[in-house]
Parts: sequence; C-alpha cells; structure tokens
Amino acid sequence: MSALREKIAAIPLARKAYQGLIYCGLHSGLPELWRAVTGRRHVILTFHHVRPAGQSADLFDSCPSMSVDYFRKVIEDVSERFTVLSLHKLCGYAGKDPCAAITFDDGWRDNYDVAFPVLRELGIPATIFVTTNKIGSSRPFWQQILGKVFRHASENPDGQPSRTLGAALQVKSNTPLTASHYRQTVLRWKKLASGRIDGLLREAGCAALLPEQPRCFLSADEIREMAQAGFTFGSHTVTHPILPCESHSTAEQELAESKASLENLLGYTIDMLAYPDGQDSPEIRACARSLGYRIGCTTRGRWLSSKDDRMRLPRLDLSCDFCDGRCEFPAELPRHRWPSV
Ligand SMILES: [Zn+2]
Repeated sequence: MSALREKIAAIPLARKAYQGLIYCGLHSGLPELWRAVTGRRHVILTFHHVRPAGQSADLFDSCPSMSVDYFRKVIEDVSERFTVLSLHKLCGYAGKDPCAAITFDDGWRDNYDVAFPVLRELGIPATIFVTTNKIGSSRPFWQQILGKVFRHASENPDGQPSRTLGAALQVKSNTPLTASHYRQTVLRWKKLASGRIDGLLREAGCAALLPEQPRCFLSADEIREMAQAGFTFGSHTVTHPILPCESHSTAEQELAESKASLENLLGYTIDMLAYPDGQDSPEIRACARSLGYRIGCTTRGRWLSSKDDRMRLPRLDLSCDFCDGRCEFPAELPRHRWPSV
C-alpha cells in the first residue's frame, strides 16, 4: 500500500471519500472513457451491400448500402487506425493495440463482385454471414420485393398494382405510396412472424409484379473462393426470420440447418452467427449456444467492451448513420466517429 493510501486509510472520512471516488469511477463509465482516450478500444464493423461505381442508393431498398469509393475510404481509414483481425482472432485478442473486424450480413453477390477485390488488394480479412437458402439465388428478401412493388406503385399511382398495395396496407386511395411509406411498412412488418409476412406480400400483389432478375446473392463457388482467400463465414440463418418473433422449434431449425449447410459447403466447423436484423433474446442465445455457436453478433451500434457476452457482440454500421438511402455519403469519412489512436 502506498504512503498516501495509508494516510487516507487512517482518516475515516478521507477513507470513505476515497472509496466513493473509486466506486463512482468504476460505475460511471470512466474505464470506457479511459480506453477511448488511450485508444485501447476494439470495434466490429458491419456492411451489407457495397454498390459498384456509378450506382446510386435505391430509395426503395431498406437494406443499407455503401458506394465502393466510400467503402474503400472506410477500409483504408480503419486499417490506418486499427489492426484489422478476423472476427475469431479479435474475440481472442489479449493485446493492447486497438483492433477492428470487418463483417458483412446477408451474403449479397456484390460482396464478391465489389467488396472482395478492394479487401484483397488491401490485405484485409472479413467475415460474411450468409443466409443459406439464398446461396446462388436471384430472389431477394421480402423487403426488396415489397420495395419493387412500392416503386412501381409510386411511379404509376393510378394503376391496379397501386390500388392493390394501397388496399393491402389499408391506406386512403389518394395517399401517395412514397419511399418513406415503404420504410415505415418494412419496420412494421419486421415485428411479424415470417408466415404472416408471406400472406401480406400476396395481398399486396407482390407475386404478380416480381420480374426476372439476375442472381443477387453469393454463389457456392464464390463463397469457397473467398474462404480460400482467408475470408471466414458464419450463419445468418436459413431464411432470415426475426428469430425472437418465431417459435422455439422454428428458431432452432433455422440455426441448426444453416450451420450444417455451411459446414457441408466449407468443410469446417461454423461457430459464428449474426442474428437477422440484429435481434436476439436470452432464449435464442441459449439455443444457439447449445447448437455449438460461440460468437453471436447483434446490430447494437457501439464499441466492444471486455464485459460483452460473446453471444451478444455489438457492431457499428457506418452506412445506416450517414445515408439511410436518402443521400450520397460525405466525401470525407467523419473523423469524429473514431477515437484518437
Ligand atoms: Zn440480414
């Protein structure tokens, strides 16, 4: 014990004040602040779509996206400020350097076509969370299908599809079906079980309006090629349901079957998971653990803390904060997002 501490300990009032300071420091986020100031912080970044050069954001797609130019800026900035590790290595890292891990959700084809060449050139590893029944598929999620119907309805407000969609959503006949209306509908429908959403899509006339389109998810060959280049893969379930909205048996099946099909495809044990829409619950985490998952990612947007449950890791999504589909990204990466390191 130091001489100063001995003196403090000898005076009852001073001892109480000293103990109070220590207690407040430990319980007021000061350790977090200290780590921020000293730069000893880690972060997991999330990406979804990376758009090729010249392609603007789709107002009628609620899935976050980022232009390839901005993506490159983010990755260059991150690799200047952090040691970029694979997610597995970051989770086991005990050193003092600030570290980052790069993750992608859903398994979109542009992860291979657009993001992979940038990451390979810069020597940056990444983890992709794949929705396994979408591997090689040209059918997007219900959010994109609904977006196509909304776009069609907004461009042809007097057409039958617009009336069908308006009736399904129970809006007044003269209400314009805008991009913001689309986003509100997506948020509302996300609270429903997947069977109910299928029924609503049919009511909204989505099946009749879905055109043929090119493959939009990663193929099995692309996944294997990226795995050989050092990328790692995790489950994003089989069909991308919001797991806490589903029954226990459905959630268990989604977690078990997606794990098995990725293991079958890649030949190694899959123990990482990203919860669709970042939504988990104590029951879902317990179920995932019992199936052999060891790392679970949410979309709670903050830095990593040493106290974080490995099955409930936070991740930062830079695209959501700055774009939200309405504008192009600022030319410079906003520096205030990062601590001084
Ligand atoms: Zn997702």
